[in-house]
Amino acid sequence: MGIFSPIYHLLLPLCYRKSWNMEIIEDIVIVGAGIAGLATALGLHRMGLKSLVLESSDSLRITGFAFLTWTNAWRALDALGIGSSLRQEHLPLQGLVGGSTATGLSTAQISIKASAKWFGSKVVSIEVTGNLKLVHLAAGTILKTKVLIGCDGVNSVVGKWLGLQKPAFAGRWSVRGLTEFPDGHGFRPEFLQYFGDGIRSGFLPCDENTIYWFFTYSPSPENKGKEESASEMKEYVLSKLGNVPQEVASVVEKSKLDAVIASPLRFRWPWHLLWGDICKGNVCVAGDALHPMTPDLGQGACSALEDGVVLARCLGEALLEKPRGGAKEEEEYERIKKGMDKYARERRWRGIELITTAYVLGWIQQSDGKVINYLRDKWLSKGMAEMLLKKADFDCGKLYSPI
Ligand SMILES: Cc1cc2nc3c(=O)[nH]c(=O)nc-3n(C[C@H](O)[C@H](O)[C@H](O)COP(=O)(O)OP(=O)(O)OC[C@H]3O[C@@H](n4cnc5c(N)ncnc54)[C@H](O)[C@@H]3O)c2cc1C
Repeated sequence: MGIFSPIYHLLLPLCYRKSWNMEIIEDIVIVGAGIAGLATALGLHRMGLKSLVLESSDSLRITGFAFLTWTNAWRALDALGIGSSLRQEHLPLQGLVGGSTATGLSTAQISIKASAKWFGSKVVSIEVTGNLKLVHLAAGTILKTKVLIGCDGVNSVVGKWLGLQKPAFAGRWSVRGLTEFPDGHGFRPEFLQYFGDGIRSGFLPCDENTIYWFFTYSPSPENKGKEESASEMKEYVLSKLGNVPQEVASVVEKSKLDAVIASPLRFRWPWHLLWGDICKGNVCVAGDALHPMTPDLGQGACSALEDGVVLARCLGEALLEKPRGGAKEEEEYERIKKGMDKYARERRWRGIELITTAYVLGWIQQSDGKVINYLRDKWLSKGMAEMLLKKADFDCGKLYSPI
């Protein structure tokens, strides 16, 4: 277990420039340069396959949030070939510490030289032409592709095209912050958590000088509209932290306002994932576009990395398989479809399991009912910590790179 820190360093040359109102043909197009899109592109690169990543933002997001990187994510990063370099830059956590609110008791360097990125390229619609997909960009460019992968987050355009239901609001918001301590924070390398009274807070050292913190709450007339202002949000968090030790509260106090962000929590109902099409022919989704979940397990990004590895392996094996003869285009489409179906079979249940566990865990952790509070603080606390470790103990397998 360790921390995957807030910053990506971009080492990706921009190989293409945007061209207006013209049609371009690609083998593999990935929509979204978040963690899922980048992991998939890197995985495909390791399998010897080039892809084009389309990102609606003007640049790669290099700051903004941190997340807990569990064992399963490190296995995926190892499969992608970047685990060992990242390990040297991150602090391995040595413990989980749970507490009650009432009692008080990177830099990631990802190099994908073979793949291209188009920033400022927002996908607005998708069309079918034979076995190919036409990807329409907001600027008017149309791309034709043999494979389309949606890594475009909770509001996925690709997911919508597949017919997946819009993710639901979980009835909770989360505030996240990063606090810098130039002279060192002095915290032990442990994940500190406090829950109860309708809120949950957590504090995780990223390295000797930075602490990532979060605070989850339910909307009420008291906090309505506060998410618009970082300073009001910070004040609200401080007023609700409860009886946590002063040095813990001072982590929030010392956060700069531009390092505080509030977001609504969304998730996909598990039965939508069970019955829905997560892939259709040569189109599929990965990461939050596939399995948006509440952050209570800290598994959204970790499982997006798993998706990237599994998808690259399934697709890579299918595309690198020796052609079986017959009409070239049709035969290749069938191989891609087979690879995509294999990916969907491997990932569907993992997504369902993580979404469901995260939701139930969040409900228990954040409850302010007397009975649940008592059960949680007395009996369930240890089991919940064990559940985090259990769900993280997953191996997405390796990539056998031909290069
Ligand atoms: C409060 C909170 C705490 C969390 N903590 C953790 C944690 O500790 N551990 C963990 O593993 N996960 C955590 N997560 C979850 C994690 O942040 C997400 O699961 C993860 O970032 C999803 O990555 P993604 O690449 O699938 O999607 P995103 O990061 O959303 O990336 C999607 C990308 O697609 C682009 N895009 C969208 N639409 C289009 C379009 N039409 N055309 C082109 N580009 C488009 C977007 O600009 C974006 O760059 C947390 C989430 C929250 C809200």
